[in-house]
Amino acid sequence: MDFECLAVIFERLETVSSGNTIRDLLAEFLKTVAQEDLVNVCYLLLGRISSDFDDTVLGIAEKSVLKSIALASGMEITKITAMVRETGDAGIAAQKVLQKKPRTLVPLKPLTVHDLVGKMHILAASTGSGSHDAKVTQLATLLQRASPMGARYVTRIALGTLRLGAGYKALLDALAIAFTGDKKNKVILEQAYNICPDVGIIAETLMTKGLKGIEAIDIQVGRPIQMMLCQRVEVLDEIPDKIPGEVTVEAKYDGERIQAHKNKKGKITLFSRCLDVITDQFPDVVKALAKQIDAEEFVVEGEVIAIDEKGNHLPFQLLMQRRRKYDVEEYVAKIPVQIKLFDVLYYNGKSFLHEAYVKRSALLEKIVHKNKAVTLTERIVTEDVMEMSDFFQKMLKEGYEGIIIKSRASDSVYQAGVRGWNWIKWKKDYETSLADTFDLVIIGAYSGRGKRQGVYGALLCAVYNNKSDTFESFCKLGTGLTDEVLEQLPVLLKKYQREKCPARVIVKKEMEPEVWFEPVIVVEVLGAEITQSPFHAVGLALRFPRFIRFRDDKKPEQATTRREVEQMLRK
Ligand code: ATP
Repeated sequence: MDFECLAVIFERLETVSSGNTIRDLLAEFLKTVAQEDLVNVCYLLLGRISSDFDDTVLGIAEKSVLKSIALASGMEITKITAMVRETGDAGIAAQKVLQKKPRTLVPLKPLTVHDLVGKMHILAASTGSGSHDAKVTQLATLLQRASPMGARYVTRIALGTLRLGAGYKALLDALAIAFTGDKKNKVILEQAYNICPDVGIIAETLMTKGLKGIEAIDIQVGRPIQMMLCQRVEVLDEIPDKIPGEVTVEAKYDGERIQAHKNKKGKITLFSRCLDVITDQFPDVVKALAKQIDAEEFVVEGEVIAIDEKGNHLPFQLLMQRRRKYDVEEYVAKIPVQIKLFDVLYYNGKSFLHEAYVKRSALLEKIVHKNKAVTLTERIVTEDVMEMSDFFQKMLKEGYEGIIIKSRASDSVYQAGVRGWNWIKWKKDYETSLADTFDLVIIGAYSGRGKRQGVYGALLCAVYNNKSDTFESFCKLGTGLTDEVLEQLPVLLKKYQREKCPARVIVKKEMEPEVWFEPVIVVEVLGAEITQSPFHAVGLALRFPRFIRFRDDKKPEQATTRREVEQMLRK
């Protein structure tokens, strides 16, 4: 397929904001895509060149992209830089200057989707001396082979800034319409996506094997699966209603969740809560898992926490210092960690996703040789709420966040990507009847006054509506933003700034911000109470919100949902 066909669709998608129109446009287009292009087209529609979890980084800095535009157009780089400053968008600048470019003597082969993705992968993989200049030249050739409009999108893809308002959910809806003729089948695709978060594979399987093929998708070593999540209750006494009979009660640690995959060759890959590859951050965890787990192949999950020499747990902030690309070994020694394993999803060629929790934890006990670096979560088995409460108090004394109550029933399977009732969390905040913290998405900002002149004074934050795939305003956040955070915000948000309300964002007139942002950055916010509100799109508002921290381990679609805040609203 010529890249131009895709560029035409990109351009149309840019002008629409209605979710239904986006879906219909995508569905009509997907019907026209040949099998050999489908996977790449799906990735590109999400602004990527590979699956969401693939750690391929294009790594082309804006400066280099501008050099490529200069090379492709013959225009001076200073002029291009000035245009980018003026328009705020290198893509538009590329389109404008390439419209004026002189024709090459020999016409170049038009750019195809296959070539673009293939060449972008080569660009991403090239490192070392000389690679920078080679990247600039190769990207310039791609820009020349595209039409001026195509160059706009090639530029954005190279920079990682192509956002069309179509998230993976809209794409799954469109695939359901295009290949099954029935939008309702999106539920089946979403379930499969939870186990295989790769729209390319989902699309190709659907096209070639139909819904039967989709239903047969299972866990695969090396491909992360969306993590199972917890529900919450108002009072601990509700537990027997929600999970009758004996339950496993485990400590809830405030660390970083890790899904570890070991393949037959012995290679271990660590995935974060967001399904990013974080193997290089934790060489110590990799080594320990390889030694302490008795299995040729496995997929296990656990929480990593920082510990002192005696093995006592240290605060989350210390663990965060392990999130680094450089000086990793120095920090391995400085901040030792321990992984507390709590689940096994795959073992020696067999998927355990559909097995009950009792069976999964028995297997974990069998294959893990505990030591200081690798251990299992502390746990008890009981059906008595008093015992749960005692265990909870004990965990708080040990400095942990709370407990997670897990079903042991025959249907307590691993529910990938689901916040279901098989796992229920109970935290200190709930007991002291403070509201929980919320993970909200920044969708806008208001400029500061007085002391905050020149920086953002407040942020407009949204919850995620997972039914309509929209981000709905929920609170204006001004408290808790330290000077350091206020300085960080413009840098962090610049890339996502938009002139008008972005697609999928819903805000009422009264709350319209001065600056809009693509819903990308997630922040953790503590709130005192949820009240009805005519001003916020969700119909509710969080009172006295206070910024706690950035949740860069969460994607916007993993933010607190509209449904959750509706459930929390105390009548
Ligand atoms: P939070 O912000 O409270 O971590 P969350 O939205 O990330 O919540 P929840 O479903 O509320 O996810 O809580 C589950 C999280 O708790 C897991 O993602 C994991 O990181 C952490 N956790 C700590 N201890 C355990 C445990 N024993 N079993 C499962 N998850 C645990």
